[in-house]
Amino acid sequence: IRDSVIDGENLDELHSELPDKSKEKSALEMLQEERKTLPIYPYRDELLQAVNEYQVLVIVGETGSGKTTQIPQYLHEAGYTKQGKIGCTQPRRVAAMSVAARVSQEMGVKLGHEAFINSSEKLWTLKCSEFHLQVGYSIRFEDCTSEKTILKYMTDGMLLREILSEPNLESYSVLMVDEAHERTLSTDILFGLLKDLIKFRSDLKLLISSATLDAEKFSDYFGSAPIFKIPGRRYPVEIHYTKAPEADYIDAAIVTVLQIHVTQSPGDILVFLTGQEEIETADEILKHRTRGLGSKIAELIICPIYANLPTELQAKIFEPTPEGARKVVLATNIAETSLTIDGIKYVIDPGFSKVKSYNPRTGMESLLVHPISKASAMQRAGRSGRTGPGKCFRLYTLHNYHKDMDDNTVPEIQRTNLANVVLILKSLGIDDLVNFDFIDPPPEEALLKALELLFALSALNKLGELTKVGRRMAEFPLDPMLSKMIVASDKDKCSDEIITIAAMLSVGNSIFYRPKDKQVHADNARMNFHLGNVGDHIALLRVYNSWRECNYSTQWCYENYIQVRSMKRARDIRDQLEGLLERVEIEVTSNLNDLDAIKKAITSGFFPHSAKLQKNGSYWTVKHPQRVHIHPSSGLAQVLPRWVVYHELVLTTKEYMRQVTELKPEWLVEIAPHYYQLKDVEDRMPPFSLFVSICVRVFVCAVNIGEFYQQYPRKC
Ligand code: ADP
Ligand code: MG
Repeated sequence: IRDSVIDGENLDELHSELPDKSKEKSALEMLQEERKTLPIYPYRDELLQAVNEYQVLVIVGETGSGKTTQIPQYLHEAGYTKQGKIGCTQPRRVAAMSVAARVSQEMGVKLGHEAFINSSEKLWTLKCSEFHLQVGYSIRFEDCTSEKTILKYMTDGMLLREILSEPNLESYSVLMVDEAHERTLSTDILFGLLKDLIKFRSDLKLLISSATLDAEKFSDYFGSAPIFKIPGRRYPVEIHYTKAPEADYIDAAIVTVLQIHVTQSPGDILVFLTGQEEIETADEILKHRTRGLGSKIAELIICPIYANLPTELQAKIFEPTPEGARKVVLATNIAETSLTIDGIKYVIDPGFSKVKSYNPRTGMESLLVHPISKASAMQRAGRSGRTGPGKCFRLYTLHNYHKDMDDNTVPEIQRTNLANVVLILKSLGIDDLVNFDFIDPPPEEALLKALELLFALSALNKLGELTKVGRRMAEFPLDPMLSKMIVASDKDKCSDEIITIAAMLSVGNSIFYRPKDKQVHADNARMNFHLGNVGDHIALLRVYNSWRECNYSTQWCYENYIQVRSMKRARDIRDQLEGLLERVEIEVTSNLNDLDAIKKAITSGFFPHSAKLQKNGSYWTVKHPQRVHIHPSSGLAQVLPRWVVYHELVLTTKEYMRQVTELKPEWLVEIAPHYYQLKDVEDRMPPFSLFVSICVRVFVCAVNIGEFYQQYPRKC
């Protein structure tokens, strides 16, 4: 592959350099043909003209019209990449990776990442580092770009972090904030920053693209920027509701899939579920039921898609369905607008998604299954009518639709913890947050809570200015409490252990593997890491260190019921955190024999998450009292230490603390004297027991005095 910039005209010439020329050429030609059939294609020149004319352009087009994959290529073909890269942000990392893979194929250049391409052709499946990545992607902890990258797909959060190191984004000629309608926290913050930046960079083009028609709002925000509409091709969609509410929507979805499969004409099915667990359950039940039906029914190909799915499996959703078979895609919200899967004719919409919610009063964050908005329901239904008339089966009643669903989803900025973005904004020198130009301002209480937390973590001083600790914390692409834990580990000389723990926590809850038929074995293996009731953080550290001692062996993972994939990811994250330690001038030091030092460093970041045991086995959080419980999967679930610090709260049947470690209450006052006073951590008695205790003492004393009198009457 040549190093030079590739444009549309010389693709054939480029391909003459590739092996197995005839095959590749035809594959590429087919892709080029396909590009021309997309709804956006007839508007290519008009769009380029508008970009040329205006600095900011709002682009609206239905999902699947070609905005994400085509616009950056059109701009590249028109020469914009001669002045700098084209960056395109996505709210979801799977979308960034998937779209970059697609575009690299269409352009006939090679993208990275092993095996994540939607064709079986080996050509595309080599490793990231081996290429001049003209099309690349960047997501947290995974940078698949190089200095040769000209089209860069990235998560909105990554662009936000990039502004920290490159405030003017000089290396970009065009920025496209895609999927703007999703209104993620990072997208909203980017709006404010980019609106300011374009004043200084008159050469920078800014495109805001959205799948829904609320574009007026974006246009107004960017000083009446023109709106470019790409007319969609939508076929009619028949919408069906259930007559009565469904008690179990997963079961209802499965029954509906099977009914469609047996009674309806060919066409693939898309089912919206809320997360990995539900998708795995549905996948298992569907496989079981179809196996039971044997050859009585046509083949049903089940394709799950969610953020943590291994990349090589993600590509499966795009593979064409073989003749006579039917594909059923079990997806999270990602398939609502971020990814377009061709061939979908039936949509099953249970009407729920997982949303983050945040209580600014207590500072508690939780991920809850919540009814979707009417706008989301419309988008979901629309997925069935892209290539022909479709059908959408809503697993809720028409009454539910009208009564229980909001018109639009509340922007994330209004329902989330803002500590992370406040730290980024402060690092960018934006001190006056109340007057920051938010497209929709966050609740003031949430803003104050974020400032309060950053102050407690010593990232800000009393005047709200960034401290040295805060500056160091901002270097880490982690939540402020995790970053603080790392920065604080310097003092206790255990940075080596703490970055391992931070990496393991960042992987999520997919370290331990618990197959249904071997649960006892898996639990025993897991408990080995907990020996001595060291707590979940140290157990994670032991898992990682044992794996490292075994030369990162896959066999070791199998034997210990540990997920290899998660461990590899933890190793990648750990390597990056180690690099960042160097950047903030913290030495990598190990203090493995002093578990208290490690626990103290954890407490230094997570002291706002401390809780104290109650008589009934539940806990009260110390600062904003709330009843919580240790999650049953914790190594301390049976131990119930008096004082604990936890990583996060999850709400299932109860409010559970996940990843728990014991702490000594005096550490709280020592580490955060500005946050905890002695009275918070004293083992005070409730008034009634105090009264009883005083009575008992007086009584005992009286008895003693009586005895004394009896023994020594004369003396008295
Ligand atoms: P929009 O951004 O307007 O929603 P896209 O540019 O994402 O549209 O999609 C345009 C077309 O490209 C769709 O037909 C979609 O199926 C196809 N496409 C996008 N990503 C992939 C992929 N990874 N593999 C196969 N096809 C893809
Ligand atoms: Mg798109």
